[in-house]
Amino acid sequence: QLYNQIQETKGNIRVFCRCRPLSREESSNGCATVVDFDAAKDGDLGVLTGGSNKRTFKFDRVYTPKDGQVDVFADASPLVVSVLDGYNVCIFAYGQTGTGKTFTMEGPEHNRGVNYRTLEQLFSVARERSDAFTYNLSVSVLEVYNEQIRDLLATSPASKNNRLEIKQTSEGSHHVPGIVEAKVDNINDVWSVLQAGSNARAVGSNNVNEHSSRSHWSFTKFFILSKTKLWLVDLAGSERLAKTDAQGERLKEAQNINKSLSALGDVIYALATKSSHIPYRQD
Ligand code: ADP
Ligand code: MG
Repeated sequence: QLYNQIQETKGNIRVFCRCRPLSREESSNGCATVVDFDAAKDGDLGVLTGGSNKRTFKFDRVYTPKDGQVDVFADASPLVVSVLDGYNVCIFAYGQTGTGKTFTMEGPEHNRGVNYRTLEQLFSVARERSDAFTYNLSVSVLEVYNEQIRDLLATSPASKNNRLEIKQTSEGSHHVPGIVEAKVDNINDVWSVLQAGSNARAVGSNNVNEHSSRSHWSFTKFFILSKTKLWLVDLAGSERLAKTDAQGERLKEAQNINKSLSALGDVIYALATKSSHIPYRQD
């Protein structure tokens, strides 16, 4: 319903759906795909049908298991360039654990995803425009876990333990005062910053993959000149954890994830329906 409403009003929001291929294990266990893409007619690429009662879902675009990282980035790419024109952009991956969010955003080293391709393109367009513009790019990497923001680029023990908060500026944009902003001049700089962030994320969890399913991970670039921001976000898994018999820490995590994802849903709904109040700060 939310998707349909977004489709109708469209505005500045686009919703893409990516169906990953079955894993080797799934195939050998006899699993089969429950969605089909045949409903898509020429020029209508955003339709899939699925579920027990064969419902039809519409998106701005549907990627089938045959579509690769390049196909996905083709749709992200114009958005990315608009950042250099001064627009704020946010791209995030939403879905249950195991559906391919990290693959899509990060990707393996030999088949990189949206994050890397985005940065590559930003640098390349910035270079093309270097006669007319100077862009100062910097990167921050942060993790939201149990409602707390962790600066994954913080190096000193003091700044690591700093309680970070998200503030809204009078122009309505959001920032995190005190967060490390690493200046980057080329794609290699970014790559080392991301590696550092990724390593920091691993600290304090014995299973990074499992941990990553329960935290929202984001990295953002600030263009000091124009104050424009691009957020790239790999969200925590959207499965209904609270329905399982989680206890203690797990239950707390599950409740925080459900709360934040449902707040995110409310924000997107308000943006999509052009509501006068966007509940960014709802508890
Ligand atoms: P999530 O981050 O949503 O929990 P992952 O990105 O870790 O999911 O994906 C789960 C598994 O499926 C990983 O082993 C990943 O390599 C694989 N995978 C996901 N998407 C694709 C894809 N489009 N093509 C090939 N393998 C994929
Ligand atoms: Mg993941």
